Amino acid sequence: MKVRNGSKRFIKDINRTQVINEIRKNEGISRTDISKNLKLGLSTITNIIEELINEELVYEIGEDISTGGRKPVLLNFNKNYGNVIGIKIEEHKILVSLTNLKGEILFNLKANLTEKISGNILIDTIKKAVYEIIKVNNIKNKLMGIGIAVSGLVDQKEGKLIYSGLLSIENVELSKELENEFGVPVYVDNDVNVYSLAELYYGKGKNRDNFVVITYGTGIGCGIVIDRKIYYGELGGAGEFGHMVILPEGRMCECGAKGCLEAYAAENAMRQYILENISKYEGCKINYIDNLTINRIEEYASNGEKLAIDALALSARWLGYGILSLINLLNPATIILASEGMKMQKFMLPTIKEIVKNNFFRKHPKQIEIVVSEMENEAWQLGAATLAISKIFELKLYEEAKKSL
Ligand SMILES: [Zn+2]
Repeated sequence: MKVRNGSKRFIKDINRTQVINEIRKNEGISRTDISKNLKLGLSTITNIIEELINEELVYEIGEDISTGGRKPVLLNFNKNYGNVIGIKIEEHKILVSLTNLKGEILFNLKANLTEKISGNILIDTIKKAVYEIIKVNNIKNKLMGIGIAVSGLVDQKEGKLIYSGLLSIENVELSKELENEFGVPVYVDNDVNVYSLAELYYGKGKNRDNFVVITYGTGIGCGIVIDRKIYYGELGGAGEFGHMVILPEGRMCECGAKGCLEAYAAENAMRQYILENISKYEGCKINYIDNLTINRIEEYASNGEKLAIDALALSARWLGYGILSLINLLNPATIILASEGMKMQKFMLPTIKEIVKNNFFRKHPKQIEIVVSEMENEAWQLGAATLAISKIFELKLYEEAKKSL
């Protein structure tokens, strides 16, 4: 059989990528173990590793404890070989983090967005922030990729923001514009998917194959991880859990439909409930002109304000029923709740757990866990950086990225 040169080169790249990933996964691994794990001949492994050491992608560390005979030298991946940048786009600002190839955050930057933004303003703001990071950290020749997290509907393949209700912009070619500017691959995904990636690699999803992340606050978002991969659906928008209809012909939702979970359980619904009921609660200290964000409501609840406690419990009830359906549908190992407010654990979790207990699988000896996310504030940027890192090592893209520097 005739093998074209191109495919030979490709096979070599696959092997290389596999070896790199094996070393990334198992710090301090020996050549023999890589060969065993990947079922590739030791001479092939040795050649690849020599190449990787010459390129400074991999380095040797001390010797393994001798089991008799020759002592194997152990290998580590050089996490500082390159850098990636993770960006979270918010309503009024962008948050930017620089990481190494292990996802360790090295530098953070915040840039404000103008009150009224357009696609061009957003791209210009990102460009300026990336240039600033490159300059301050002197990484002009080390940047290998950029990951971006944004709320809304994203075409992941094209790296395009199709529509964002939060930002009121549509059809922004983020990848195209930024790849042209910086000459490195740029990946874009919905912010909740990106958060789920951070959970998958560094958080409570680390040892789970199937889990769901629910973000809760002004809106309700959801990232679905199946077999350790984000589930995207046909149009890239899977996980619109907040727009599951929970009451037919119910309350109007911001998405234009009626009876969505979000219209009953998110921040707006709580605010509305509180404002409608202030007069019914004697001695209630909540003011009509209060800016009732979820954080503020939780603050009131912490101070023992009954109306705020009731509003949180009511939302938790709706959310609980939504989660119950989600569990019955997907049978995940874990539901990870991530909230903009910090008191969810105290005021909402007991109600949610009580409702969810009645799931279809309740008789199974293994129970589904409901946990609260413990990721740091930078989880979104970290997830965005991780998106770029995972893509870089997924394909032979790293070659291309290096070439374009
Ligand atoms: Zn809706």
